[in-house]
Amino acid sequence: MAHAWRDSISLSDEQQLVRSSIRDVCSDFDAEYWREKDREEEYPSEFVDQLGEHGWLGILIPEEYGGAGMGTPEVVVMMEEIAASGGGFSAAQAIHGGIYNSVPLVKYASEEQKSELLPRVARGEVAIQAFGLTEPNAGSNSTAMETTAEKDGDEYVVNGQKIWISRVDASDYLVLMARTTPLEEADKRTRGISMFLVDLEEAYDQDALEIRQIPKTVSGFVHSYEMWFSDLRLPEEALIGEEGEGFYQVLDGLNEERLVIAAECVGLGEAALERGIEYANEREVFGQPIGANQGIQHPIADAYAQVLAAKQLVYAGAEELDDADRKDAGARANVAKYLAAEAAFAAADAAVQTHGGFGVAREYDVERYFREARLTRIVPISQQLALNYLGETVLGLPRSY
Ligand SMILES: Cc1cc2nc3c(=O)[nH]c(=O)nc-3n(C[C@H](O)[C@H](O)[C@H](O)COP(=O)(O)OP(=O)(O)OC[C@H]3O[C@@H](n4cnc5c(N)ncnc54)[C@H](O)[C@@H]3O)c2cc1C
Repeated sequence: MAHAWRDSISLSDEQQLVRSSIRDVCSDFDAEYWREKDREEEYPSEFVDQLGEHGWLGILIPEEYGGAGMGTPEVVVMMEEIAASGGGFSAAQAIHGGIYNSVPLVKYASEEQKSELLPRVARGEVAIQAFGLTEPNAGSNSTAMETTAEKDGDEYVVNGQKIWISRVDASDYLVLMARTTPLEEADKRTRGISMFLVDLEEAYDQDALEIRQIPKTVSGFVHSYEMWFSDLRLPEEALIGEEGEGFYQVLDGLNEERLVIAAECVGLGEAALERGIEYANEREVFGQPIGANQGIQHPIADAYAQVLAAKQLVYAGAEELDDADRKDAGARANVAKYLAAEAAFAAADAAVQTHGGFGVAREYDVERYFREARLTRIVPISQQLALNYLGETVLGLPRSY
C-alpha cells in the first residue's frame, strides 16, 4: 500500500514505533478478511486477539498494571492506522470501547479491581468492550437517563433499559451508567449518576438481563444491542469511583476520546482515498484513465485537503492535551471530530463516485466506507451536538435547549 501522501506529518519516535507495529499487525488482515467479516456480520476476533497478544489493547493502561502506559498522541496513531489499513471505522470500533473503558477504570476503580482486571485486559484475556449510556428515552440528552441503581443493603439493584450498546457479545463486563439519585432530587442534572462494572455472565445467571441485537445497515461486524435490566443485583464493589459522580467521571476523558474518534474518521477517509486514487489510475474509459478527468480528480483532491486538515488538528490536539493549562481542549476535540467526520464523508463519497457502478459493489469496499462515513456523522456524538458545544460553550451563543 502506498503511504507517501499519508505520512506527511512528523511523528515522535514513540508514535513511529506505534505506526510501524500496528501496520505490521494489520498487514495480516487484508481487504478480503474485512469483506468477509462485513458479509457474515461476524466480530473480528482474530484481529482483536492479535492486537491483544501484542499488548495493544492495554495501550492506555499504566505499565504497573501490565499495559503499555502510552497516551493520546500514541492512541490517535494506532486507531488511525487500523481504520486506514482497510478495516475502516468499524475495525477501529471493534476495539474502541475496550481502550476507552480502561480510562475510568485506571482513574477511579479500587486498587483491588485494578490489579485483578487491568493486566488481564491488557493481555486481551478479559474484555471490557461494552459501555452502556444511551437510552430510548434519553438519547443525546444522556442526563435524562431512566435506568436506576437503588441501594439495598450492601448491594445495588438495577432496573431499566439501554439501547445501541455495542460489543455486548464481545465483552465479559459492561461499564454501565445508571441513576443512583432520581433526577428530581439531584441538585444538578449531571449529578446522581453512577458508574458500575457489570459482570455480564453473572447478570445472565441471575436472569436479570435480556439483550436483543439491533439489525442495522452499517458496522455489521460490531453488533449493537438493546438491553433490559430487571432487578439485577450488583455487589457494592461494582461501583466505580464515587456514587453520584459517574457523569463527571465520563466527562473527564471525553476530549481525549473525541480526538481518537476523529483519528478513526481520518483513517477511514484515508482508506477511501487510497481506493479512489487506485481506481482512478487504473480504470480507462474514452481511452484514458478516468483520473485524468478533473471531474474525478478534483473531488479526490478536495477530500484529501479536508482529511489532511482534520489530521493536523487531531495530531496537534493530541499533543496539546497533555498541557494541563489548556482551556480550549473541548473546543479542539469537538472541532476535530466535526471536521474529521465531514472529511471522511467527502472522501468516501468521492471514492464511490470514482468507482462508477462498482461504487456500490461490495467487492470494492468503498460502499462500506461510505456507510461508515455516514455513521461518523451520528456517533458517538452527532454533528449537531458537536456544533451545539462550539456555539454555546465556546462562542457564547444562547443555549437552545
Ligand atoms: C452503530 C451505533 C453504535 C452505538 N454504540 C453505542 C454504545 O456502545 N454505547 C452507547 O451508550 N451508545 C451507543 N450508541 C448511541 C449513540 O451514541 C447515539 O445514537 C447518539 O449519541 C445519538 O443519540 P440518539 O440516537 O438518541 O439521537 P437523538 O438524541 O434522538 O437525536 C436525533 C437527532 O436529533 C438531533 N438533536 C437532538 N437534540 C438536538 C439539539 N439540541 N440540537 C440539535 N440537534 C439535536 C441529533 O443530533 C440527531 O441528529 C451507538 C449508536 C449507533 C448508531
